[in-house]
Amino acid sequence: MILRCLVLQPTIVKTNIASIIPLRALKDNYIWVICDPNKQYAAVVDPGDAIPVIKFLESNNIFLTDILLTHHHQDHSAGIPELLAYSNVPVWRSSNTTEGMTILLEKQQITLKVIEIPGHTLDHIAFYNDDLLFCGDTLFSAGCGRVFEGTAAQMLHSLQKLKNLSENIKVYCGHEYTVNNLNFAARVDPENQALQQRLQQAQQLQAQDLPTLPSTMQQELSYNPFLRTNNPVIIDSVSQHCAGELQDEVAVFAELRQWKNNF
Ligand SMILES: [Zn+2]
Repeated sequence: MILRCLVLQPTIVKTNIASIIPLRALKDNYIWVICDPNKQYAAVVDPGDAIPVIKFLESNNIFLTDILLTHHHQDHSAGIPELLAYSNVPVWRSSNTTEGMTILLEKQQITLKVIEIPGHTLDHIAFYNDDLLFCGDTLFSAGCGRVFEGTAAQMLHSLQKLKNLSENIKVYCGHEYTVNNLNFAARVDPENQALQQRLQQAQQLQAQDLPTLPSTMQQELSYNPFLRTNNPVIIDSVSQHCAGELQDEVAVFAELRQWKNNF
């Protein structure tokens, strides 16, 4: 009788638990794979190379459903033509999305929103929900991307938009730059205990050849100097380094980015 009742219950499977799998590509890129819990379907973020993606799909019998692209750089996008030849799926990118748009990954039962974050490139977008953020080359753990196409003011504004997302979101970045970024951050902010702890942890992970990502936004807010350009410690450190008056937060950010470029 009990069994029968159970069988008659409608099966509602709540799955906010898509699994996110890192694929390493090129020198230090990550291609993030968004899988449904039964590992039958996958979307990929920033496939700079098709080969690791196709190998992963074939060896696990997984269907590709979507491609998500954060920005146009080759190390994030070069695998797209080959993947589309392999499986003709939608590609979500800046040219067919708008700020606030929701993308439903139906098979994975996950929705992602689009947020526009220009600075590294002008077309840069991120995908996020309450649990996670795919931020490409805008935000790295303990760092941020170089400002190639936009201005320092644009990049700072974009980082501020990301800061305003939930503190609990997991941060999935486009590159494994964490240890290098932390070494720089430790120069800027040497007394920061959270930073020292993260450095130790990241070094241990790196020694085991494991990803240091994802981090969380809460962690990043505690040690990422590029998210703390309004913090007196960071302002002091940057103004000492450049030996000049810093007019506003944009100036702090611009000098900090310049310092990192030459580090
Ligand atoms: Zn890039």
